[in-house]
Amino acid sequence: MSKFGFTILKDQQLDYDNLSRDLALHIQKTEPSISSCMSCGSCAGSCSASRFTQFSFRKLVINIQRGNDKQIVNEIQKCMLCGKCMLVCPRGVNTRNVIYQLRKVLNEKKHHEV
Ligand code: SF4
Ligand code: SF4
Repeated sequence: MSKFGFTILKDQQLDYDNLSRDLALHIQKTEPSISSCMSCGSCAGSCSASRFTQFSFRKLVINIQRGNDKQIVNEIQKCMLCGKCMLVCPRGVNTRNVIYQLRKVLNEKKHHEV
C-alpha cells in the first residue's frame, strides 16, 4: 500500500449517552475557577511534568468538560503539584486544587469499587 506521509485522524466523536458529567459538575462545585479556563495553554507551556511526559493541564480540563474519565485517570498522576501553572494562568484558575480535588474524588471512587 502506498504511504503518503499522513494519516486519517482517529475518530474523536463523543458519545454523550455513555459519558458522564458527574466529575465535571463535582469539580465545578469544589473549584469554580475551572469554568474560567479559556484553553490558552499557558499552563501546559510552563508545566514541569510536560518536560518528561505528554501531560497537559489544558487537555485535562477539556477531558473533564467532556466527561472523558478514563483519560483523566491515566493522566492525573503525572502532575507533581508544583504550582507553576497557577502562576502563569491568565484566568486565575486554581489548577493545583483542580488536580487535588480530582485525585481525592477518584481515590474515593476507587475505594468504593473495591
Ligand atoms: S493557563 Fe489557565 S486559562 Fe490557560 S489553559 Fe491553563 S488553566 Fe486554562
Ligand atoms: S502543578 Fe502539575 S500541571 Fe501545574 S505545572 Fe506543576 S506539574 Fe504541571
